[in-house]
Amino acid sequence: MTDWLEFIRSCPGLHAAAVPQEGYERVNWRKSVPRAPRVRVRRHTCDCKAIVYELCQAGGLSFVRRLSRSGGKTLITESEWVRVPEAERLWLKVLMGTAR
Ligand SMILES: [Zn+2]
Repeated sequence: MTDWLEFIRSCPGLHAAAVPQEGYERVNWRKSVPRAPRVRVRRHTCDCKAIVYELCQAGGLSFVRRLSRSGGKTLITESEWVRVPEAERLWLKVLMGTAR
């Protein structure tokens, strides 16, 4: 049975899977370094969570950015910059919890 009150109160935003799936791919998160004058955030997960993921694009390349907030600080790391379709695949994996 669905708990409807819980459902109504829950946040409607986009969230990555809370727990990664077994055998998930480990993303090589690197320190975020400004490499392009303009980075466009194409999608992002909801900021009701301590960790927010963003699918970013700069020029012809794309990457996933990870913003982790704790103790008033935000640690920003990002995946390797790759071609757009590859980054979109990684983005979906992060959402599904098959990559973290
Ligand atoms: Zn939310």
